[in-house]
Amino acid sequence: MSNVFEDAVARLRGLGKAAGIAAEVIDALMQPKATLSASLPVRMDDGSTRYFPAFRCRYNDVLGPAKGGIRFHPGVSAAEVKALALWMTIKNACVDLPYGGGKGGVIVDPKQLSRMEIERLSRAYMRAMADFVGPDTDIPAPDVYTNARIMGWMADEYQAIVRRKAPAVITGKPLGLGGSKGRSEATGRGAFHVVEQYAEHTGLDRKSTTVALQGFGNAGYHVARLMQQAGYRIVAISDSKGAIYKQDGFDVESVYKVKQESRQLKGVYCEGSVCEIVDHETLTNAELLELEVDILVPAALEDVITEKNAGAIKAKTILEVANGPTTLAAEQILAEREVDVLPDVLVNAGGVTVSYFEWVQNRQGYPWTLETVRERLEAQMESAFCAVAEARETDASTWRAAAYSVALRRIAAGIEMQGTREYFSGDN
Ligand code: GLU
Repeated sequence: MSNVFEDAVARLRGLGKAAGIAAEVIDALMQPKATLSASLPVRMDDGSTRYFPAFRCRYNDVLGPAKGGIRFHPGVSAAEVKALALWMTIKNACVDLPYGGGKGGVIVDPKQLSRMEIERLSRAYMRAMADFVGPDTDIPAPDVYTNARIMGWMADEYQAIVRRKAPAVITGKPLGLGGSKGRSEATGRGAFHVVEQYAEHTGLDRKSTTVALQGFGNAGYHVARLMQQAGYRIVAISDSKGAIYKQDGFDVESVYKVKQESRQLKGVYCEGSVCEIVDHETLTNAELLELEVDILVPAALEDVITEKNAGAIKAKTILEVANGPTTLAAEQILAEREVDVLPDVLVNAGGVTVSYFEWVQNRQGYPWTLETVRERLEAQMESAFCAVAEARETDASTWRAAAYSVALRRIAAGIEMQGTREYFSGDN
């Protein structure tokens, strides 16, 4: 497998060059500003202590404080956290948020831990990172296998350390602890706005459009639910345990309800009442990716569409709800086959957009209504889509190249304002 960070910087260099971004701007983005590694000691329920490797990367903060989630996953690595933090830098600039990019992670399988062990781990993370993060420096949020409750524990720990209320240190908190209405659905809702804009842009008929969803976590569930409500047919859904298929399309709510009860899609395959709710065929995750559908939605982890399967993908459009699901090599194959890849840095930016709204509400001490959050999210996603669509038409490039071009121009403007070689050599 290619190194995810090397892949990310190679992509950045290629797309930056194609967009005519000055080499010194690209050089500034070739490595993170700072990364903190720590070992988190956690008292386990049996009295023993285990040590979990943890990271926080502040990739770039030219446009504002660093911003990005924290992931709890066994596959986390320093390279992955750096790649994710680079993508956050591009994402935040692409949708025009006043933020740089950051990311955090812990190497842990949270499914093996009890609830109290997860609380201790979350608090230990914040104790290790408290001097590195802050409302004006670097603002974490949820990511894979972290949620509002975990953000609440982390906010509480930070506030205990600094001995004052500072809810804007972290977003994605529970409503009662300063969270924003509409945050939990925001990544899926933002992706839905992107696909709707795309449908209008390309004249897609929703009713005859079939969709396969890989990954049925928070973002995958909400995007599929909203797409189904709008008339798209969700014919396949998978999670880490397996995949299900139904030609007429699933009722997403029912599948979600079953998964909530059983904690995994496998629960859908059981006897009795549940199977009456969800009628289906089973398939493997690999088969799901290669299904004959119109839109493929990878909504889990990175490195899912690679050079090995890119040639076999039949979807005409890929909606990247996950971060980094398509490798650089796969993307070249898909581009030759004229598959539209709607990129992560645009598609899944709804989550961080509502995180930004939460941060603003915390700093103002003035909570917004759900309607306000939804309206502003839609407006932000629409204007980002339009900027990217325009760049794509002007440069006749891929959707990702266009999204990077929009983002890099904004970052470049910030870097250039601080002075470039051209400026200091007095040539102008
Ligand atoms: N983890 C999410 C992402 O990858 C959200 C980040 C945030 O809200 O800061 O975009």
